[in-house]
This record gives sequence, C-alpha cells and structure tokens, in this order.
Amino acid sequence: MILRMDRLLTQLPTPKHASPNSASAVQELLGGKYGEMSTLMNYTYQSFNFRGRKEMRPFYDLVANIAAEEFAHIELVAYTINLLLTGATERGDDPTDTPLSDGLRARNHYHFLTSGQAALPIDSMGNPWNGTFVTATGNLKMDLLHNFQLECGARANKMRVYEMVDDPTAREMVGFLLVRGGVHIVAYAKALEKLTGVNVGKLLPIPDLSNKAFPEARKHEDRGLHRILYRFSIDDYRRVGEIWNGVHPEDGSELEVIDGPPEGAPVPDLEMEPQLAAPIGPDAVMYDEELMDVAKRVFR
Ligand code: MN
Ligand code: MN
Repeated sequence: MILRMDRLLTQLPTPKHASPNSASAVQELLGGKYGEMSTLMNYTYQSFNFRGRKEMRPFYDLVANIAAEEFAHIELVAYTINLLLTGATERGDDPTDTPLSDGLRARNHYHFLTSGQAALPIDSMGNPWNGTFVTATGNLKMDLLHNFQLECGARANKMRVYEMVDDPTAREMVGFLLVRGGVHIVAYAKALEKLTGVNVGKLLPIPDLSNKAFPEARKHEDRGLHRILYRFSIDDYRRVGEIWNGVHPEDGSELEVIDGPPEGAPVPDLEMEPQLAAPIGPDAVMYDEELMDVAKRVFR
C-alpha cells in the first residue's frame, strides 16, 4: 500500500510569467522514456514481482522503497508543468475574445485542448507514456543494471532540460531531482557491488559532469542531501541500510538512512481558469446563488 501526504518534496518558486514551451520540454521528465513515470513503474513492478525476497530482502527493500520516492518525483515534475502553464492564456469568460489563442503558439496543444492547462502523461513531443518503458525481467542483476542505466538516462535528460530552459521553477525542480536521482544511481551501483563485487561507482558520473556544476543542485548537496536515503514507510523496508552504507563514490561523504520522508513543502494552490472552465465555467460563477446551492448540497 502507498500512504499519501499532501506535501511536495521541495519548495518550488512561483514563476513570474507563464512559459508553455518550457512546460513542453519539462514533459520529457514526466512521461518520456527516461521520465519519472518510468522510474516509478519500473521499480513498482520489479518490487511486486520480486521472487526470493526471504533470501534477498535488502535488495527487495531498496527497490520497493525507491519506488515510493518516485511517486513524489512525478508530483514535483507535474507541479512544475502546472506552474509554468498558469497564466498561459487570457483569463476571462467571453469565448468570442479567443482567450485560448496564446495556446495556438505553444508547442503542445494538448495542454489547452485535453487538460486544464496542466501536466499530462506524455513526453516533450506529446507521445503518451507506455508500458514498454518498464523492464522487470525477474533477474536481479539484469534489473539492477537496467535501473542504474535508467537513472543515468534520467540524469542526462534533466541536464539537457536545464540547458534548454531558464525558468527558475524548472531549474529548481531539476536541481533537486539531480540530487535525489544521484542518490538512486549510487544506491543501484552499491546494490550491484554487493551482488557481484564489481566496483560500479568507478563509472560515475554519467554523463561526465558533476551535479556541483548546477547551482540549484549544489545548494542541496551542500546540506548533505546527496548522502541521504529516506525510508518511505511507517515500519517497513528497514534493511535498505544493508545496501545504503559506506561512503559516497564521488565525494567520500558518509551515507545515511533517515527514517521517514522529508518534511517537504506546501503543495501550490492552482487558481481557477474560467476560460477553460477549470474547474467550473463562467456561467457557474455568474449565477453564484445557484453555485452556492450546489456547494451547499455537495459540501453541506
Ligand atoms: Mn526520480
Ligand atoms: Mn530515481
């Protein structure tokens, strides 16, 4: 089971202006082959399907526990997209004003036509996320190798999105997730080392560029976030510490497991967009006596 908290993993700044094309680029980090939906679903299926967990418990605990953090990554990327799309069209209640005309110039029309200016399970080109992005062979060595490569690919995409967009909201999200993804890369490298004796950490960093080159990542590493694995459960996955221990392969800092999720930050409150009738249309707002009746009936 997943226990959910109405918090974001980290604080996101509110953009000064909308940036729908940046939002399209950020979609790659959500629904792309190497996006957060892929990491979540890879580790989730691998954990459901894990055989021999009595014998291999620490590996099961690691994959299952990281899956839970990936849900929070999806949430963080989705809110980045939602914040970048807020204000992308003219707020108003007259359809003859062509209030969605700014959407016409945006790369991704789905943000205006099939959602209320919000995140979708698609990549930067509008292709839907799909289940072939999941590898769950049942062979632990193969799945861990895949997870290591998946996290490195995710890292490459994040760096490229950072180099493509200059919105502080997108860069803050990328900086934070470079650090957390870095933890997962090291965790899978350590797991492969425990399983095979091969020093996988020597391959790092992939791509060959330190997180410290990104100010929005460096500030989190300065407070040690890159050496912390959170245990995302009330009472389970306690044996992650048998893999997450020793020193960080890049800077030699001591690795640590923290019991429970990070404190996080409030979830941004997205305002109504009447021109999209999201979540209600201008007529509902106009006849507010009627709306009050509905509200009373629904919410008492
Ligand atoms: Mn992630
Ligand atoms: Mn990850």
